[in-house]
This record gives sequence, C-alpha cells and structure tokens, in this order.
Amino acid sequence: HIPVIAVDGPSGVGKGTLCVLLAKHLKWHLLDSGAIYRVLALSAIKQHVALENELELAILAKKLLLRFISDETGVQVMLDDENVSAQLRLQEIGDAASKIASLPKVREALLQRQRAFRTSPGLVADGRDMGTVVFPQATVKIFLDASPQARAERRMKQLQKKKICAIYDEILHEIITRDERDRNRAIAPLRSATDAFLIDSTDLSIDEVFKQALNIINS
Ligand code: C5P
Repeated sequence: HIPVIAVDGPSGVGKGTLCVLLAKHLKWHLLDSGAIYRVLALSAIKQHVALENELELAILAKKLLLRFISDETGVQVMLDDENVSAQLRLQEIGDAASKIASLPKVREALLQRQRAFRTSPGLVADGRDMGTVVFPQATVKIFLDASPQARAERRMKQLQKKKICAIYDEILHEIITRDERDRNRAIAPLRSATDAFLIDSTDLSIDEVFKQALNIINS
C-alpha cells in the first residue's frame, strides 16, 4: 500500500512550495496536478483546439506527451520534448487551465494519468481535488487556505522579486475570479475533504506551514 499525502487549496496559497518541501523531506514523489491542466491548456492553444471543445480536449488529454524532469533548479515540464515550464506560469495559461478544468470529460481523461504518479515509496499530491476525487483514500489530507488578500500580497512580492510590474487590484481580482470558477464548477469543485486537516496560512510563514504539516503527518 503506497502512502499519499493530498494537499488541496485555492490558487496562490503556497501548496506548490509546501509540497516541494514535503516531497524533499520525505524523499517521496511529487505530483503537481495543476501543471497537467496547464500543459493541456497550452497544448490546446498551440493546436487551435477551442477551450470549450470538451470532446477534442479529452482526446488531446489522452494523447498528451508530458514528462516531468527534476534538475537542480526544480522540476521542468516537457511537452513533446519542449521545455514549457516558463510558458506554464503565464497568467493566460492559468486562466485557460481553470476553464478546461471545469469540463467533466477532461477531468475523467486525466484521472489515470494522475493516479499513475502513486509509486513507491510515496506521493505528495498538490491540487484542488487530490483528497476528494483523485486519491480519496489518501493517508493524510491537508487543505491549505489563506485570505485572497494575503495570497495577492504574496504574489505581488514574487513578481516584484522577478522585477515584473503588477497591479495589486488586478492580481486580487484574478485570484478571486479563479477561486470562484474552481469552487462553483459542477464537477470536482474546490473544497476541503471532510477528513482533511485545515491549515490557514494567512498569518503563517512557509516554515510555520511546513512545521504544521509535518505535525499533522507525524500525528
Ligand atoms: O494549481 P494551478 O494554479 O497550477 O492550477 C491551474 C488550474 O487548474 C486551477 O485554477 C484549477 O482550475 C485547475 N486544477 C484543477 N484540479 C487540480 C489542479 C488544478 O481543477 N487538481
């Protein structure tokens, strides 16, 4: 029985950072499920498949030639042997990913691909429905939350570090819009599993979040 730690929560809450730390600490595999939705969105845009075309998108999802490669700078995402990691972070791709993620056939087509990441010695899975749909039997489930304002401020800081200009109100608006779409979709809406532990990171540093998560895992 291969253990899974499922970490779910809204956009920009720090799930990615937490999951990377947990996977390194435990020496387990990592699934960034958001990256899969983003790659599919990117592939659809490149191949001129409309973001509403559920059937074509589901076919594309099954065919997707996607690989994750770990190197010293982190995890690189390869689509058809092209490194698309930088493109995936674009706001436009996050938005397109959130649109296609509301289509049931697309989610269904990606289910097995995500479950295949569960290999020995264990998996840390980052997403929106890891604990509710993809790994309902996960060993530990964590729901990481933070106020939209705290998330927008963190994103502003990240962008400023990279010397990218951004307007706080626009970032906040994007975060709230994406949250609403993810929470209100008919299939696999973003919500905490009933048996998940909640961590509210609004007033916590990443170290504090990591410590709380470890306490939960070890308890
Ligand atoms: O986590 P990330 O921002 O990379 O995810 C991009 C989008 O993909 C999310 O806004 C969400 O709509 C979708 N997603 C999802 N289920 C997941 C992971 C991501 O619906 N497990």
